[in-house]
Amino acid sequence: MSEPAKTPLFGTVAFVGIGLIGASLSLALRRGGLAGRTLATSRRQETLDTALRLGIVDDASTDIAAVVKDADLVMVCVPVGACGEVAEAIGPHLKPGAIVSDVGSVKCTVIKDMLPHLPEGVTLIPGHPLAGTEFSGPEAGFAELFEQRWCVLTPLPSTPKGALDKVAEMWRAVGSNVDMLTPEHHDRVLAITSHLPHLIAYTIVGTATDLGTDLKQEVIKYSASGFRDFTRIAASDPVMWRDVFLNNKEAVLEVLQRFTEDLTALQRAIRRGEGDTLERHFTRTRAIRRGIIDAKQA
Ligand code: NAP
Repeated sequence: MSEPAKTPLFGTVAFVGIGLIGASLSLALRRGGLAGRTLATSRRQETLDTALRLGIVDDASTDIAAVVKDADLVMVCVPVGACGEVAEAIGPHLKPGAIVSDVGSVKCTVIKDMLPHLPEGVTLIPGHPLAGTEFSGPEAGFAELFEQRWCVLTPLPSTPKGALDKVAEMWRAVGSNVDMLTPEHHDRVLAITSHLPHLIAYTIVGTATDLGTDLKQEVIKYSASGFRDFTRIAASDPVMWRDVFLNNKEAVLEVLQRFTEDLTALQRAIRRGEGDTLERHFTRTRAIRRGIIDAKQA
């Protein structure tokens, strides 16, 4: 017997920006029957043509006002530096009662940039799915991206519970575990778990790129010895990551300072031949990896 048709959680979901994250969420909503229809708008027609060709959304247009005007949920899925201008463009066209949410990797500046442009009667639910790949664009999207991954929502003290619960339910329905943090706490945690590792990867790969030609060829040939994992991270979208560092400046600079001090301590241990210090440090860090595997986040 076929399952009875589910009532969609949202009537119309409009995506502003339909790259890796927007496309993956739209595919997951469609697969789960969670949206009555999904629409997309983007800067370039080419992006929308791809999204339509791949069956990611029901309809698409570069006319941002037309796409968002009937939406019950507007998902803003653009680089964090563009969220403010998107909010300004959609603000006057949103219907009363609409929910606006986002997926940006930084939360404090996104809230500060978006909130002033949203009219009364429209609710902002800031969010960040901790799921992604180094690929970009709608072709990179897949419905399973969010399964068994965390999605952090960072509601404001004024956020209505009903809208928050609905967005949380959507993320759970696409397979995520949902957590709530304050925007400030989110940005500090992500600075160490995501932003600093990306900065380190960008640095190592840049250093290798600047090596002499002979050495560089061998770095590529023997990349499986550790370097390869950094190259994957350092292949992440340059615009997205430019915006992350510009928008989470203070938290990133703070953890970078601590990292630099710890690196200097290891540097000194190597110079002085202090094997015990090195071994103790590496034993402690190995336990972290075990914790990640146990938490099924590996
Ligand atoms: P993406 O694949 O590069 O797609 C970006 C989308 O935003 C495209 O539709 C693009 O439009 C549009 N866009 C780019 N710049 C814009 C601008 N200045 N104004 C308006 N629209 C613009 O990016 P993504 O990986 O989906 O990332 C989207 C958001 O998700 C970012 O805020 C990022 O921080 C967050 N996020 C990413 C990951 C990840 O691993 N990638 C994980 C979690 C959260 P056109 O193609 O038409 O130019």
